[in-house]
Order: sequence, then structure tokens, then C-alpha cells
Amino acid sequence: MEFKPSIDLKLTGVCELAKAGPAGVVIFGASGDLAGKRLIPSFFNLVRHGSIPDNFFILGVGRTDMDEASFRLKIRQALVNSGEKTGSLTDNFCSKCFYMTGDYDDPDEYVGIRKRLDELEKKYSTRGNRVFILAIPPSLYKTVATHLGKSLLMEKGRTREPFHRLMVEKPFGRDIDSAVELNREILKYIDDTQLYRVDHYLGKNTVQNILVFRFANALFEPIWNSRYIDHVQITVAEEAGIEGRAGYFEQAGMIRDMLQNHILQLVSLVAMERPVSLDSEEIRDKKADVIGSIRPFDLNKINEQVIRGQYTEGFAGALKAGAYAAELGVADKSCTETFFAAKLFIDNKKWKGAPFYIRSGKRMKEKASRITVVFKPVKDNIFRDIGMEHRPNTLTFSIQPQQGVSIKFMVKVPGSKMCLSPLDMDFNYKDKFGSDIADDYGTIILDCLLGDQTLFWRKDGIEASWKLLTPILKKWETCPLNEKSRQMHFYAAGTDGPKEADEFIKRDGREWI
Ligand code: NDP
Repeated sequence: MEFKPSIDLKLTGVCELAKAGPAGVVIFGASGDLAGKRLIPSFFNLVRHGSIPDNFFILGVGRTDMDEASFRLKIRQALVNSGEKTGSLTDNFCSKCFYMTGDYDDPDEYVGIRKRLDELEKKYSTRGNRVFILAIPPSLYKTVATHLGKSLLMEKGRTREPFHRLMVEKPFGRDIDSAVELNREILKYIDDTQLYRVDHYLGKNTVQNILVFRFANALFEPIWNSRYIDHVQITVAEEAGIEGRAGYFEQAGMIRDMLQNHILQLVSLVAMERPVSLDSEEIRDKKADVIGSIRPFDLNKINEQVIRGQYTEGFAGALKAGAYAAELGVADKSCTETFFAAKLFIDNKKWKGAPFYIRSGKRMKEKASRITVVFKPVKDNIFRDIGMEHRPNTLTFSIQPQQGVSIKFMVKVPGSKMCLSPLDMDFNYKDKFGSDIADDYGTIILDCLLGDQTLFWRKDGIEASWKLLTPILKKWETCPLNEKSRQMHFYAAGTDGPKEADEFIKRDGREWI
């Protein structure tokens, strides 16, 4: 599809990244994987594009014993690993990064952080604006948040300048009880308007583009309901395995890792009613309505609604890959799912009778995340007797690795005979706009600095998501050997998942796209 923005967006300046004000950032778990691979490179990117001002610093906190020089070396390496060239920009960035070693559960640690913050806030004139980021294992969220609250490093009510904000990584809880408890504990010390529950998927352009496509075009919204839409499919497939994170993944599994957060967010964006404005609370109201309207799973018919799978030996690209059960740190007879497929119904008028089929897995054939909206066939199709294959119209949002949109429709094949063929119209973000100025983490970090909560989970939404999933998670918590074959379907690494997932959708007369 030929596409050119009709105005020069760079000249008008309207599409430039917003600029945050002064702030100091404290990263707990600064020595970890998330900090090194995602957070630090995203902060650097924002600094480079002028979205973060000079009045800024990062204070890393971790258990690992490291002096500041070693921490800066680690940061420099993280930037190089993410494709940056070293130079005065990286030097300047590293000079604003500091590190403290300590024990997260020791009150004295927080006395030390206060001393350091006082010093740095003065030096960099950050006006007392603070963002705390929890890039630590979820079991530590409550401990650190409680200490931050009790020590008054983070004060309730500081929503605007001088603000105190807390960014918490996923997963937020592991079932309904733990999510409610975590909310209750953290919200003793801060307001929900100061709490930023991260789902970095929401920072992706294509994900935000779902709203633009639906609500800024006259074409789609009138037919965005089950009268015209047959069903929706969401696939989030990863070629990678668990990447050495067995400790985390054995406790999580794919339903906690993907369905509870990224996929339910995608479902809510596709299914939500039209918000009256772009106000963050209004959008989060509409999204929470969707999650609250998803039909609860019927535990007596669970196998008709959810399929679980686990990978066995196979391939990762051209290389041989071992089974999940053989990964280092995975329990002998583990019954953690590395794949699931599920069917959801949203019990409201808009989506009556139109299922959402979702699937997600590790060690799949390829890395691909996409949403496909499948429309109903043309009514009283005048071309029905021509005998060609009639494909339904589909609208696909590709989220990764490519970001783009594609529409499938029928066209006439050139020639004197009336022949029809399906055709895809594609648009790819990178081809049309170049590479992203802000990556997904960059977007959410900037939003947090700007105080915009639109792209973050709210208390009601996150609790509704756990309420929906906790019964199935509990049902599968234990997995006696005689039950395992009924509960778990195996698939070779490097494939599209277990054959039962194909049968699952075929039973409804449909197939995965
Ligand atoms: P890591 O396992 O790398 O741990 C982060 C840091 O926490 C470590 O550097 C370590 O630092 C500290 N830590 C680890 N275990 C303990 C422990 N038992 N007690 C005290 N401190 C500990 O985790 P990630 O960086 O991968 O993830 C951090 C958070 O981000 C998690 O909640 C994860 O779910 C989430 N997340 C991670 C993603 C990723 O790509 N890695 C993606 C999305 C979310 P030190 O020992 O120096 O204290």
C-alpha cells in the first residue's frame, strides 16, 4: 500500500517526543537483566533525543558489591550491547549514574539512600522529583515499597511536582489474593496516581495504533462488533526458550507471564468501547470494563476453553534445542506450561457470540506477535458461483518483530475472465517512518516522568485480570502424574505448538491464521 504522511511531521514539530522535567531516578535491581538490557538503554535514548533534561541522574541500588566505576563500566557495556557507540554522549550519561550496595530489607539502607539522594538532588537541581523503579524479583516488591514508604523517601499524595512515583514491573501479583495484598500494602504509602504498574507492550507503536485505527478512522468503528466480526485471534509466539530464567519461569508459566498482562491488555484495546476522550482515567475505565466482562472459565469444561503445552526436544532456528524439562533449574516432571491456547468470550452486546482465540508459546517456529480481526463473509455474495476461494476480510496488527498493519481483501485478477483472488495491503512502520525514536520502554519511562498513566495498569484492571485467571491457575497448581497427560500437550521445539491447539480451534470450524 503506498502511504505517505500528508504533512511533514518533523517540520510541524507536533510529533516530536515530549520533554520531561528534572527528576532523579532510583533503580532497585540496577545490576540485573532488565536494568542492563532495557531500562538503561531506554534512558540513554531519551537523553540523546532531549526528552530528559540535564537535571537528571540515576542512582542504582543492588545487593551486588560494586563500586561506582564498575557500575559505570557495566552501563557503558550495556549501551554498547544495545548498539550504541561510545563518545562524549555516553561519557556524560555514565557520569550521571551512581550506585549503592545494600540489603533491601535493612532500614539503614534507606537512610543511606536518603543521604545520597539529598546530595544528588542538590547537585542536579532535580527539584525533589523522584521516580523509584522496582527491577527486582516480584517477591521483593512489597519489602522495598514498604521501606520506601516508611522512610518517607516516597510520600503519599506527591502526584505532581515535587512528585514521588513508583514504577513496578510485571508480574504484579501471582493470583488474585497476592495482587490485592500487594495493592493494599503499596497503597498504604502512596496513592494509585503515584503507582505505575508496567506492561511494556503498551509502549509499542502498533499497540497504541489499535486505538488510532479504531477511533480516528470512520471506516472501522461502525463494523467493529460481532454483527460484522466473526472472531479475533491473538498470537504471541517466541522463538526463544526461557533464556536461563528457570527460577522465574517455573513459578510463572505462560499464563502468568503472557496472558495475565500483555495479552489481556491487547484484548481490552481491541474490545473496548469508544472512550469519550483521551483522558487516561477514561481509557482505563473502558479497558477495565472489558476485562471485567470476560466470561469466567468453567472449570468443568476447562479443556474446551484452554489448552496447555510444554516443549520437547526440537529446533531453535537451525540449531538443536533441548526440551523444557531438560533446562537447567527446571524441576524433574515440571508441569509448568510453555504454551497455551484459549478461547475467551466477552459478555456484552458488542461482542456477543464473537470469540477471542489467543495463543502464546515459547520455542515456537518464529517470533511473531499479532492480532487478527476476522470479518464475517459477505452476505449474499454475487460472486459465490464463480467457484474461487473466498477468503474473509482480515485486519492484522503486527506487533513484533515487524510493526505494521495489513488488510486482506478480495480483488479481480487482471484478464478478461472474472477471477477473484485475496490480496494483502500492508504497511510497515519502519519502512514508512524509519526506526522508532522511542522504544517501548522509552515510551513508558517518559510517560511516567510526565505523569501520564494511560499506558499503565490500574488497580481495578489488574485485580479483574487475576480474578479471571486465578481459578485455572489454582486448578493446575498441582499436577499429579496420572493427570499430566490430560493437562499437558507436548510439542517439539521450533513448531507451531501442540496439535491439540489446532484441533481446539478446528472444532469451531475455524483455523489459526
Ligand atoms: P534478575 O533476576 O536479573 O534480578 C534483578 C536484580 O534483583 C538482580 O540483579 C539482583 O541484584 C536482584 N536480585 C535477584 N534475586 C534476588 C534475591 N533473591 N534477593 C534480593 N535481590 C535479588 O531479574 P530481571 O532483571 O530479569 O527482572 C527484574 C523484574 O523485571 C522482575 O520482576 C521481572 O519479572 C521483570 N521483567 C523482566 C524482564 C526482562 O527482560 N528481564 C522483562 C519484563 C519484566 P542484586 O543481586 O545486585 O541485588
